[in-house]
Amino acid sequence: MTIDGPAARAAALRTLLREYEYHYHVLDAPLVSDAEYDALIAELRAIEAADPQLVTADSPTRRVGAAPAERFAKVRHSSPMLSLANAFDDAGLLAWRDRVRRALAADAPLAFVAEPKIDGLAIALTYEQGRLVRGATRGDGEVGEDVSANLRTIGSIPLTLRDPGASWAVPDLLEVRGEVYMRIADFEALNQRLAHAGERIAANPRNAAAGSLRQRDPAVTAARPLRFFAYGVAMSSGAAPPGQWHALAWLRALGFPVNDDAQQFDTFAAALDYCHAWMQRRDQLAYEADGIVLKVDDFGQQSQLGHVGREPRWAIAYKFPARETSSRLLDIVIHVGRTGVITPQAVIEPVELGGVTVRHATLHHADYIAERDIRIGDVVIVKRAGDVIPQIIAPIVERRSGSEHPWQMPARCPACDSTLERGAGEVALRCLNVGACPAQLVRRIEHFVSRGAMDIAGIGERQAQLFVERGWVRDVADLYRLDAAYFADIEGYGERRISNLLSAIAESRGRPLPRLLVGLCIRHVGETTAQQLADAFGSLEALAAASADQIAAIDGIGPTIAASVAGYFAESANRAVIARLHQAGVVGVWQAPPQRGIALAGKTLVISGTLAELSRDEAAALIVEHGGKATGSVTRKTSALLVGSDPSAGKVARAHELGVPVIDEAAFRAMLAPAPHATPADEASRDDVRDRT
Ligand code: NAD
Repeated sequence: MTIDGPAARAAALRTLLREYEYHYHVLDAPLVSDAEYDALIAELRAIEAADPQLVTADSPTRRVGAAPAERFAKVRHSSPMLSLANAFDDAGLLAWRDRVRRALAADAPLAFVAEPKIDGLAIALTYEQGRLVRGATRGDGEVGEDVSANLRTIGSIPLTLRDPGASWAVPDLLEVRGEVYMRIADFEALNQRLAHAGERIAANPRNAAAGSLRQRDPAVTAARPLRFFAYGVAMSSGAAPPGQWHALAWLRALGFPVNDDAQQFDTFAAALDYCHAWMQRRDQLAYEADGIVLKVDDFGQQSQLGHVGREPRWAIAYKFPARETSSRLLDIVIHVGRTGVITPQAVIEPVELGGVTVRHATLHHADYIAERDIRIGDVVIVKRAGDVIPQIIAPIVERRSGSEHPWQMPARCPACDSTLERGAGEVALRCLNVGACPAQLVRRIEHFVSRGAMDIAGIGERQAQLFVERGWVRDVADLYRLDAAYFADIEGYGERRISNLLSAIAESRGRPLPRLLVGLCIRHVGETTAQQLADAFGSLEALAAASADQIAAIDGIGPTIAASVAGYFAESANRAVIARLHQAGVVGVWQAPPQRGIALAGKTLVISGTLAELSRDEAAALIVEHGGKATGSVTRKTSALLVGSDPSAGKVARAHELGVPVIDEAAFRAMLAPAPHATPADEASRDDVRDRT
């Protein structure tokens, strides 16, 4: 690097970051992912820190957001709307705590408030005599945009404040800060609507919220599913609360929605635990949270700490790892699923995301690609959340060079050349050549041997392909015909490997019925349904002889699943596979689980949310062991909905609608209370369950 290297790099970064900020803050259409932006600004910060002379007054490291757009009137904020410093790990958070400690009197008691950092956009609401007079975006932190008319359309923003009661009053003048955001489900539904209408979709809920709020026409904003929560008081003319924790209670009393998950902590260690717990729960949230905001609780201490640049010293955002990034779409290939469903798969330039290298991502189906106008060569947004397969969200149209080209869904199956068809009411195409399509067969073998099914170690995609290519396996029953002679001339198969493989296959003969049912790839039959079918019919033969009506009579199994199961056993080809499995000694061993009690006999329970003491599997096992059934959806036949934290709002609403009792873990325990004839052994094993949790 030359002498002027860092200066030139800093200048280049500034130009680039400014461009990115303009697209992100003003156009609500980012050019790069947040992770990429964060990496670049971190680089600029490091250069500036190494040589403070390189800092310019207008550096993106000194500024918040971007200047307000011309289409809105400008509003000068009563005090700057700042950004937040970030910590990307525990060490970063500890360093912040140490800085805070050093800046305050050594023996000062220190409490923290931790709040989920919902990913939306900051706004300021001004109330005079208890009425909303103005609402503004953050803009560049000093001057924002007057979006009052749009904000008034958001149902959760109070237009008039409530009397907060006894010891508080409605102040003459109040400025509240908070976040406008969109729930994930609402965002996805909105994108679906926009895509159908041929309109541009938003990259993520944050951009969708910002774009929706900054509309010219408030009627458009009104039609968008925006929500608000309040997290701060910027100014109050009357008596104000002494700290953040009280401020949240006060805001709630004044009628603002406040995040119920905020918590106050007396120790830093407890606050850190909260951050960790939230990182684990992140995938269960109804909204995108990109971290936890930790704030020093006491307002006196907050003003002592003040701020540095664009960040308050009294708060920090503990950032969760990024789940979104961008990459180039190199190609689209076709994945033929085990039931023939055709899924276009993106091949992308390898990119790090959430600790793994992502090379492929789903594109769902052909309409998804067409509606979003995703082209080969595009820079695309890639998202990977929790256990979900990585997916392509949208192209970044502004980054097109002109060399991108649209993709055409083939008319025939790439594996067996049969015509692809679309089932009635389905978006996906299917290869209907169930019997002979080699790609489907490979997937069916992979599924049959997978952990949740027959659990045969040593067989994966490569082996399944080998078996199919060589014609050794034409259906899963053929796996049990394999012997050492087959592998004699196959490279890499030594004696030991062959013997391990064959004994793994042999051992799988004893797998219980529900796993065998999962392995058979009957449409709509997953682990829960397989368990229900095994419980109800007790053997593969009895199930195969059942009519769709008999199957539909099982609680929790609807007509679609019943028709699919009965349809599967009606097919002569499937019956032949089952007969051959039977001959090979694969019968689906089944014994009803031992019952510890009859407390739940005849009762059907649905579990939703995270329980405190039991895992969901353990709770479901307890239900079955006590004679009851655990099902997935709330129906008229449901006896109770057992809820933990963050239950599905849909299930709770449905339970209320149908008059199904909603119970917590303690009430559930009470239902299991030992029947009078329970033995001490029952009690002991119950404790075992508890101990395991
Ligand atoms: P930030 O979003 O990381 O943090 C500050 C904001 O957090 C506040 O303004 C507020 O809106 C929000 N917040 C949510 N919950 C809160 C709570 N409980 N208490 C207090 N605040 C809460 O910082 P920023 O300055 O708003 O923006 C930086 C972010 O924007 C980064 O994540 C960056 O990646 C992204 N960005 C991306 C691009 C891009 O091109 N992709 C460009 C610019 C900025």
